[in-house]
Amino acid sequence: MASTAIVWLRRDLRVHDHPALHAAAAEFEHVVPLFVADARLTGGRFASAPRAAFLRGCLADLDAALAERGAGLVVRDGRPEELIPALAAQVGAAAVLWTSDVSPFARARDRAVTAALSAAGIAARPCPGNYLADISRPRTKTGKPFTVFTPFWKAERELERRSPLPAPGRLRLPAGLERGAPAPGPELADVLPEPFTVPGETAGRAAMAAWLDGPVDAYAARHDDLSGGTSGLSPHLRWGTISPRELEQRTLDRGGEGAAAFARQLAWRDFYAHVLLSFPDNARLEFQPRFRALAWHEDAAALRAWQEGRTGYPLVDAGMRQLAATGWMHNRARMVVGSFLTKDLHLDWRAGEAWFARLLLDGEPAQNNGNWQWIASTGVDPAPYFRRIFNPVLQQRKFDPQGAYVRRWVPELANVPLERLAEPWSMSAEEQAAAGCVIGRDYPAPIVDHAEERRVAIDRYRAVSA
Ligand SMILES: Cc1cc2nc3c(=O)[nH]c(=O)nc-3n(C[C@H](O)[C@H](O)[C@H](O)COP(=O)(O)OP(=O)(O)OC[C@H]3O[C@@H](n4cnc5c(N)ncnc54)[C@H](O)[C@@H]3O)c2cc1C
Repeated sequence: MASTAIVWLRRDLRVHDHPALHAAAAEFEHVVPLFVADARLTGGRFASAPRAAFLRGCLADLDAALAERGAGLVVRDGRPEELIPALAAQVGAAAVLWTSDVSPFARARDRAVTAALSAAGIAARPCPGNYLADISRPRTKTGKPFTVFTPFWKAERELERRSPLPAPGRLRLPAGLERGAPAPGPELADVLPEPFTVPGETAGRAAMAAWLDGPVDAYAARHDDLSGGTSGLSPHLRWGTISPRELEQRTLDRGGEGAAAFARQLAWRDFYAHVLLSFPDNARLEFQPRFRALAWHEDAAALRAWQEGRTGYPLVDAGMRQLAATGWMHNRARMVVGSFLTKDLHLDWRAGEAWFARLLLDGEPAQNNGNWQWIASTGVDPAPYFRRIFNPVLQQRKFDPQGAYVRRWVPELANVPLERLAEPWSMSAEEQAAAGCVIGRDYPAPIVDHAEERRVAIDRYRAVSA
């Protein structure tokens, strides 16, 4: 009987530089590339219509890439720990390979699948592929996981790297296997007015090549510009439609200051994966126990104003509207809106995390949680809370100096003069009339006073910091 392996694809939806797929194609005569549609993910705590549509697009592209190589994607609905051993028995698979992952959900699921496979005498083979290196390995001098980025980055930099792998040549499915197909659903354009990017490896590789062909050189200087300057590759990294390791290698091969800064930034993704892997309780709780005593305000109207981009602070509103329209937000805006939610509105960072998880195409537990805890000052990073209270007016002046970002996403402010754009409420009645933007009618008055709320936030954090 021909040897057979299953490659269980999850958020590694590519054929290039895919260690599990590459190994299966090299070692086994038949390969079953399998995707399991798990209702706990599509309908659970982190369900997201934009990501579900993005996923469907990625699966269609992957199916085509696999079909070109002689095998299409095999799709099943159900619980992986039941379905995978059953399929392995059906096709006589000796091994199931997959790309390892870090979230508490993913690890519990993978343990259950491993146990079921072991009981059936089938090899379970987790492989690398989601990160630059083995994120479980970096340790401090005292043998602990890292809780600060820079020393983590220095340690990870020293770890050996895989060489990027080519896409497999020919793949053969076992004869007579029914393939199945993902359940149909809306297109990305049906759930987002202006989708940020096109799903799938084909689009991901094109975006990676375009980024590395020039724009990356300006990354160090331009990454904080709200109107551009970053790669926009995060949804593709999230879904594995590009390989982080291949991206890193090609970035280093390009060389230069921009590329070096970009390669360092990629390591933040590994850092937060390392953090969640090491401290799984972070998924629900503040990393710093003292901040678990913070009593967050409950204010449904304020939360809604934030979600809908109606706070009266132009940069906050621009970011939140960019998110709702495109499924993505610039990192600088993410920090500003995160600071505003937790330090101006005093609302629970978990409410922000959940809203982001619902809309972000790149939304995923390790990155979303790590960054939300960073901006709420509750996380692994030791900077004091009073340093991370962002002034939305100053941030706008600094990172959107010509007002292009704010005018793009908050069209009510299109004709507000630049010198008033960060504080439109400071316009006189005449100026408001001339700009066609009456505060309180065409655009909201600020829902809180930043200077005042900053003091409140400091008192709140100080009170539990003893
Ligand atoms: C409150 C908040 C929530 C966030 N939630 C997520 C999330 O759910 N998923 C996510 O991928 N990123 C998240 N980020 C991090 C960051 O904003 C995005 O990774 C970045 O904006 C993606 O755009 P880009 O690909 O153009 O980034 P680039 O600047 O081009 O960076 C390249 C890649 O490096 C990685 N990266 C860059 N910055 C960070 C960072 N701060 N943390 C981790 N990885 C980083 C990403 O994979 C990114 O695609 C969050 C940031 C904040 C402040």
